[in-house]
Amino acid sequence: MALFQIAEPGQSAKPHEFRLAVGIDLGTTHSLVATIRNTFAQCISVEGSDNDKNFLLPSVVYYGKNNEIIVGESAKQIGKNDAKNTIFSVKRLMGKNLNDVKNNENFAGDEKILKIKTNQGEKTPVEISAEILKILKNRAENFLAGDLVGAVITVPAYFDDAQRQATKDAAKLAGINVLRLINEPTAAAIAYGLDNQSEGIFAIYDLGGGTFDISILKLTRGVFEVLATGGNTELGGDDFDKKIYDYFVTTTNLNADEFSTEQQRELLLLCKKAKEQLFSFSQQNSTRNQQIFIDFCQKSTELTSQIFTEISKDLTQKTINVVKRTLRDAKLSPDEINGIVMVGGSTRMQNVQDAVAELFGKTPLTNLDPDKVVALGAAIQADILVGNRRNNENADDDLLLLDVIPLSLGIETYGGLIEKIIPRNSTIPIARAQDFTTFKDGQTAMSIHVLQGERELVSDCRSLAKFELRNIPPMNAGVARIRVTFQVDADGLLSVSAREQISGIEANISVKPSYGLSEQEIAEMLSASMNNAVNDAQIRAFREICVEAKRLIEATESALAADKNLLTANEIAVISADLADLQNLINAAENIENAENNLQSEKLKITAAIDKLSKSTQDFAEKRMNQSIKNALEGKNIDKV
Ligand code: ADP
Ligand code: MG
Repeated sequence: MALFQIAEPGQSAKPHEFRLAVGIDLGTTHSLVATIRNTFAQCISVEGSDNDKNFLLPSVVYYGKNNEIIVGESAKQIGKNDAKNTIFSVKRLMGKNLNDVKNNENFAGDEKILKIKTNQGEKTPVEISAEILKILKNRAENFLAGDLVGAVITVPAYFDDAQRQATKDAAKLAGINVLRLINEPTAAAIAYGLDNQSEGIFAIYDLGGGTFDISILKLTRGVFEVLATGGNTELGGDDFDKKIYDYFVTTTNLNADEFSTEQQRELLLLCKKAKEQLFSFSQQNSTRNQQIFIDFCQKSTELTSQIFTEISKDLTQKTINVVKRTLRDAKLSPDEINGIVMVGGSTRMQNVQDAVAELFGKTPLTNLDPDKVVALGAAIQADILVGNRRNNENADDDLLLLDVIPLSLGIETYGGLIEKIIPRNSTIPIARAQDFTTFKDGQTAMSIHVLQGERELVSDCRSLAKFELRNIPPMNAGVARIRVTFQVDADGLLSVSAREQISGIEANISVKPSYGLSEQEIAEMLSASMNNAVNDAQIRAFREICVEAKRLIEATESALAADKNLLTANEIAVISADLADLQNLINAAENIENAENNLQSEKLKITAAIDKLSKSTQDFAEKRMNQSIKNALEGKNIDKV
């Protein structure tokens, strides 16, 4: 049968319809949406796509009395008079619970979820973020004149499972199909087209208003891998403003203690403006020739970029020190970095660019707007994921993005210790398995406690989830083979499964967001692990020897209960005495841990008692072995053995 013509030649739908996709930078202070138009990535502003500042949507949500919800610049203005119902910086609350935040009458919720009190009832950070995302979605759909197929949303590299899941939930609530979450630094690297090079190692330096982040990415055949991340959650443009403030106060001899809160805020704002003015001129208008004065309280001080560089030297150096530390983490030297990408408004500062250039011995990339880079990179990635680039021979179809997990993941083992299964800074997606066994004879259940952190003791790590593997068939201690598998998917979400290999029984859990961790807490956990490394190692060694002792006690007791008849009264007395000695040392062990200096000597005593008991039970063990072989052979045909 011939084909039946239904359209004129050339009027059929294109084989590959263009699919609408966007990239979203859901930021702490500002959020942006970007898309690809005529193969070009661009941000979408309120009026349409252009280059004015209207592409920045302040991440502020206002809940009014009459059920009105206002987002963005207007909300920011209203917020000055109705702070209680205006939510700023909701990103810092994502994935958090009530225990994670400072006690505040505006918060509600419980240990699972955080809620914020508003005119319109209690709102979760997920709901509030969804309001911001809805605006961005509408903005994009108006501009593109169609429904979105999906979006790539960026998150900080240090976001944990709970924070990533909360971001996804917010998107879902806003009616956005999340194609993928990607890390902000990775998006920035894509915006600069670094993925078009064949390979290289790149540093993404992100200095915003209140935070500093550094990420080291490695590119191999179009695949990005995050080698390491670092940062400081309390270092950003605001601190540079404060330096100018102090400089003004010193040079004018004003008494800052007498300033009212309003005055302080006003002066700080003037300082911020002066700073931004210093670096807002185009290259040809050399900033060195600009005269900038700060006028306040009938006093005036001139600010030059030279003075600014001088007074903020320690801040710039602080960021450089973090970069050096992160490079060490990745086992790299500055000259091994092939390119540096600058992200965040504060990287407009020339002195910051100079310091970075000096460290790496090369000029950082600054030609894209540092406010836009993350959104632009996300848009490019979204375009690839929905398949728009399939016909473009220059594009890399299967650009894969690999990220890292910020803190090690592991499980609790006997003795209150953590066994790390996936180490910190591992690239995701990743799956790792480790085998464990039962501690007691006949043990039929095992509790799996999933933890996150760098320290050695469970009490110093963060609990993520707990579940039980039940119905393990009774076996002797140490016989069961329980394989615990950790899997972190491309979005950074963790699932854990435990399977007893002999019986095949299995249990698993996905780590659902119960409570999040702030960037600051991650930083604190990391520095705590370094500060306590020696002490932790000692306690760990001590607890391990205690566990070994308990296992021996357990085994000896169960052997005595079963086969006492193999021993003479004298032998029983010797074993019982050694057993009691070891038991006494272990009973005392709990109190010893606090008195550090005793740990070492106590550990030696326990080791000696273990050796003694092992020796006195050696013959007994042999006798039992012989007996069980005899039992096994009895009644059996010899050729069957
Ligand atoms: P965040 O990611 O923390 O929300 P941004 O990346 O938007 O922050 O950066 C905000 C910071 O950038 C502020 O401290 C602001 O003063 C600073 N900034 C913006 N423009 C300039 C400029 N022209 N020169 C210097 N700093 C600037
Ligand atoms: Mg930022």
